[in-house]
Amino acid sequence: MTFKDLGLIEPILRAVTEKGYTSPTPIQEQSIPILLKKKDLLGCAQTGTGKTAAFTIPILQHLATEKQTSQRRQIKSLIVTPTRELALQIEENIKEYGKYTNLKSTVIFGGVNQNPQVNRLKQGIDILVATPGRLLDLMNQGFISLRDVEYFVLDEADQMLDMGFIHDIKKLLVKLPKERQSLFFSATMAPAIVALSKEILGNPERVTIQPEQTTAERVGQSLYMVSNADKIKLLVDLIEERNAKSVLVFSRTKHGANKVVKLLEREDINAAAIHGNKTQAARVKALDGFKDGSIKVLVATDIAARGIDVSELELVVNYDLPNIPETYVHRIGRTGRAEASGEAVSFCSAEERSWLRDIQKLIAQDIPLVKDHPYHDTSPEEAPPKQGGGGGRRPQGGGGNRNGGSRRPNAGSGNKSKRNFSKPRRRD
Ligand code: AMP
Repeated sequence: MTFKDLGLIEPILRAVTEKGYTSPTPIQEQSIPILLKKKDLLGCAQTGTGKTAAFTIPILQHLATEKQTSQRRQIKSLIVTPTRELALQIEENIKEYGKYTNLKSTVIFGGVNQNPQVNRLKQGIDILVATPGRLLDLMNQGFISLRDVEYFVLDEADQMLDMGFIHDIKKLLVKLPKERQSLFFSATMAPAIVALSKEILGNPERVTIQPEQTTAERVGQSLYMVSNADKIKLLVDLIEERNAKSVLVFSRTKHGANKVVKLLEREDINAAAIHGNKTQAARVKALDGFKDGSIKVLVATDIAARGIDVSELELVVNYDLPNIPETYVHRIGRTGRAEASGEAVSFCSAEERSWLRDIQKLIAQDIPLVKDHPYHDTSPEEAPPKQGGGGGRRPQGGGGNRNGGSRRPNAGSGNKSKRNFSKPRRRD
């Protein structure tokens, strides 16, 4: 199957070829024909499958081949996505796939001055990519009308609900014309998601690509039992041992992400943090540095990591385990994108074990445990950290008192192999 077989018009074929795509991915192969027929679509797929092209290309094709009915450009397609990173990524793709059409697009998101966004909107655009908050805000100020929207996409619906955007979405829906094509994408299909999809879609076709479990199967996974205090040492050892060039490290908290960066830098490992407290400029700088290889380790929180599109990602490290098991699958899906296989390493402290059980239940497999390292922690399970506070906030440096009476023989590799394992490090 080629893109030409899918019936794409020449300007789009040319752009896709220039992008280096030789054949459509499964979600593109299945969705593009449905969408070209203007049917609604319920897509169960996550980032990394090629889903952005699957929904943007048919929209571009419709708009490029339809007659303009008014002098001024009106917003005919609205794509709503939960994070600014994802919004930027989608709009960048639209610009690339649509570069030989004369369609205009723009992207809006919160946390930055609205004036440049408003100015671009005033010039007239065909396709708008938006995060929900800024979209409603500019609608309320009268800068955006959804009256002419013919193609509506709700992307990453599960993340949208997790982030509490449900009320914003409902406010949006009442402003959309009834006559429209709607597309709804979610990586998971919990009952709340299915209910929301029913409010948006007419009689949709369904496409399911790579259910959560297949990502888990595709990516090589390993698990290290390690105390919070030893996590940083283990991370440094893993990076050095593998001579890894691009590592994405997940931290549950912003504070934790900053701390990991600081500790890595002390070990002369170039690292940057990306999370919601960073300015847009700082995030872009960190991502660019990561893409061009000057930053080896990017430490991200889950929300900020959505939309990170780096093809050469070698290793994902769950420095903290997520308390929502689906998040684990999203995280490890950042490596091994498209057809490539990747590697995901998870650190689990005594207090994260209940979350580990939830994750293993979801992926229906036990993550292979690596014991052969000097930080293997066999202390008994502890209550999970409080939410909103932080995995990173346990008293640090207290490893000694946590090994009490419960040490099993294989944990006794202790100091001897520790010395051989890595050079001495400063305590954090
Ligand atoms: P997405 O799931 O949209 O985030 O896409 C994941 C990655 O796959 C992005 O880096 C895309 O540029 C890339 N991609 C999308 N479609 C194709 C294709 N047909 N062939 C090769 N790479 C693709």
